[in-house]
Amino acid sequence: MFDYSVLINFVYVLAATLFIFGLKLLGHPATARKGNLLSSVAMLIAVVITLFSKEIISFELIIASIVVGSLIGLYAAKKVEMTSMPELVSLFNGIGGLASLAVAYATIASDQTLSTFVIIVSFIALLIGAITFSGSVIAWAKLSERIIGRPIVFKGQVVTNIAVVIAIVLCGVSLVNNPTDSTIPYIALGLAIVMGVLIVLPIGGADMPVVISLLNSYSGLAACAAGFALSNNLLIVAGALVGASGIILTNIMCKAMNRSLVNVLTSGFQPVVTNDIKIEGEIKPLSAEDAYYVLEAAQNVLVIPGYGMAVAQAQHVMKELQELLENNGAEVGYAIHPVAGRMPGHMNVLLAEADVSYEQLFEMDEVNPRIEAYDVAIVIGANDVVNPAARELKGSPIYGMPVINADLAKNVFVLKRGMSSGFAGVDNPLFFKQNCRMIFGDAKETLSNLVRQFAD
Ligand code: NDP
Repeated sequence: MFDYSVLINFVYVLAATLFIFGLKLLGHPATARKGNLLSSVAMLIAVVITLFSKEIISFELIIASIVVGSLIGLYAAKKVEMTSMPELVSLFNGIGGLASLAVAYATIASDQTLSTFVIIVSFIALLIGAITFSGSVIAWAKLSERIIGRPIVFKGQVVTNIAVVIAIVLCGVSLVNNPTDSTIPYIALGLAIVMGVLIVLPIGGADMPVVISLLNSYSGLAACAAGFALSNNLLIVAGALVGASGIILTNIMCKAMNRSLVNVLTSGFQPVVTNDIKIEGEIKPLSAEDAYYVLEAAQNVLVIPGYGMAVAQAQHVMKELQELLENNGAEVGYAIHPVAGRMPGHMNVLLAEADVSYEQLFEMDEVNPRIEAYDVAIVIGANDVVNPAARELKGSPIYGMPVINADLAKNVFVLKRGMSSGFAGVDNPLFFKQNCRMIFGDAKETLSNLVRQFAD
């Protein structure tokens, strides 16, 4: 009789290889779409080949789950606004954790005699899955403003955390000694759900996307542990890939905010840094009509997009303006801060949508050394990522965060609706600088106005 297990493992190696190539392609905007497609195909291959396994109990249930899951995924992906993407990612991480949790629970609760190793890895998958699930739900609730977004701390929280961790360890030890005891997994599950809530509650504000990236890494670790529990090689590899890439991304985001991960995770317990620094200078508003004359004479223009560009959906009209500037003889580049917007790569995705060439996108470290050469820097709905307080104002909550030095360009135009602060909630001295002009209004409307001036 044909041994399907050899074929299954062979195809798993193929799928794992495709995942790795997919990840590599995802590393650059120009190839990211291909990477996404390749990884999806790898996942389809993995799911199909797994169905050849002898241990499949119900094809009907699997097919029904695939149909329902695909429909929910399709609906969510189509309906989500770009600005709500972090919330969606958070929910999907949580569902990943829930899936690993279910696999782990089914393994522990099965009638089979399990080895100590399988009990331990299943217990780990159950814990990390539950922490990922409840933590992600809290992160989603905070981001979507269903609960207060700022850090939530209560008296005795650290002691509670320690008590929960000790109780979880005790549950693990008891389960290894009494693998048939059906109440221990329930207690551990409850404790891990509480743990996930306790981990995310004290984190808030600008740190939430970092937490989401970390929870993404956890969902990978939970899947990896579930892979060990099921002796499924592909789940182990795919889980490890998600775990590793999530932690790398977390690290990149922490670096871009000049923070350590420990600092982010314990931010709620640290003393609040006040934002009471007085900024000298005056605001100089400018009309789009007057801005046009400066732009018409400019040779080099640098566009610095931020969250406000996503809100205004101004990327397409910016592309129009870019073409008009280029036809007028100017060189146009885009400076992308690693944490501009609300998720990594947010600006790259928006600009790709508007067909802005990848060659025109420059990273912060690439553009900062030559920023003085730009005649005009157009800041579109960016605030924190161009805040010179990060460089100049010791004591500012964002002091030390690497920023795009827009204030060093010859002229700066800031397109925003009013004087409200950015995500970090701190004032921005850039707006008061001698070379800075504020063009108030919705970014899309302002840019459309500029496009009209060029066209007339
Ligand atoms: P900010 O959140 O600092 O500022 C956005 C600005 O856009 C606001 O000041 C707002 O001002 C303006 N704005 C909003 N809507 C419009 C509109 N329709 N037209 C014009 N302007 C508008 O954005 P940045 O991109 O500069 O910074 C991102 C922040 O998010 C950083 O603090 C970063 O640390 C944080 N963050 C980002 C992560 C990521 O992965 N990208 C991860 C973690 C944190 P006004 O209301 O006056 O118009």
